[in-house]
Amino acid sequence: MQHITGKTKLLGVIGDPIAHSLSPLIHNAALQKLGRDYVYVAFPIKAENLEAAIAGFQAFGLVGFSITIPHKQSIIPLLDSITPTAQLVGAVNTVYRTETGWQGTNTDVEGFIAPLKTLDRNWTKVHPVILGIGGAARAVVVGLAQLGCSKIEVVGRNIAKLEAFHQSWQKSDLQSVVSVHPWENLAQLIRHTELFINTTPVGMAPHTNQSPLSEELIQKLSPSAIAYDLIYTPSPTRFLQQAQSQGNITIDGLEMLVQQGAAALQLWLDEPVPVDTMRQTLKNYLFPS
Ligand code: NAP
Repeated sequence: MQHITGKTKLLGVIGDPIAHSLSPLIHNAALQKLGRDYVYVAFPIKAENLEAAIAGFQAFGLVGFSITIPHKQSIIPLLDSITPTAQLVGAVNTVYRTETGWQGTNTDVEGFIAPLKTLDRNWTKVHPVILGIGGAARAVVVGLAQLGCSKIEVVGRNIAKLEAFHQSWQKSDLQSVVSVHPWENLAQLIRHTELFINTTPVGMAPHTNQSPLSEELIQKLSPSAIAYDLIYTPSPTRFLQQAQSQGNITIDGLEMLVQQGAAALQLWLDEPVPVDTMRQTLKNYLFPS
């Protein structure tokens, strides 16, 4: 058990709801492993209290914090600056102190690409297909562009939202990199990709027998393609089971979750963090033997 003293420093996560957050679990495990006198707690903050909460954090010297739904965008005007990565994604998931005040960034981008970076691929030649156009898809697009992908195909089910998604990249270099497609184009797109990413929640508990891809569609995926599902529970999802059965390399969302947290903790502590401890703590919690 960690002993909280008069010198213990505070980190945290804000959201509404927040009780389900896995962040306190993984961050406190890492802090304990490092022997650092910090504690990481969950703060339930309603939208109407966000500004007061940030002022309070400033007043009592919170070291840094994570942000989850519904504050990832609304926090931006309350910060002193955001990184180019957060600017591109249009959302902040991590806030840390700088000499000029609170700075926001988005470590989902780093988290998403971390498992891809371990694979030997020429990313400039890979044309990924992304399913879904929500918040996570934005971090995925930015991550793929950082890897060097020069053509990113994004598939959504709502034409108006697809158009808005495409427009949202207008002020960046990414508009020429990102193409949007209706669901009907999936059969054609999937055939030619070496990296297929599910960013929809299809397959999450309690609908664990669902997959975003029919048996007919998954068979069009090349056996050499990587199948990546951002969902981390169940593991594997139905989609990843389908992909595994035809020999694809598969990646689930657990590593992204771990690595986005590790990247945030590293920013707060300014030292290497025990990623293995964070991963194992999460696995033990989600998949007890
Ligand atoms: P979101 O903002 O709600 O976006 C979800 C997207 O999926 C939307 O484009 C939505 O389309 C689409 N969608 C939802 N249900 C669908 C269905 N039945 N068929 C087709 N498309 C559907 O959610 P998010 O924040 O991007 O998160 C998406 C998933 O990623 C979740 O499962 C989440 O747990 C996971 N995630 C994982 C990590 C990680 O660290 N591993 C991080 C972030 C997110 P409409 O807009 O038309 O509804």
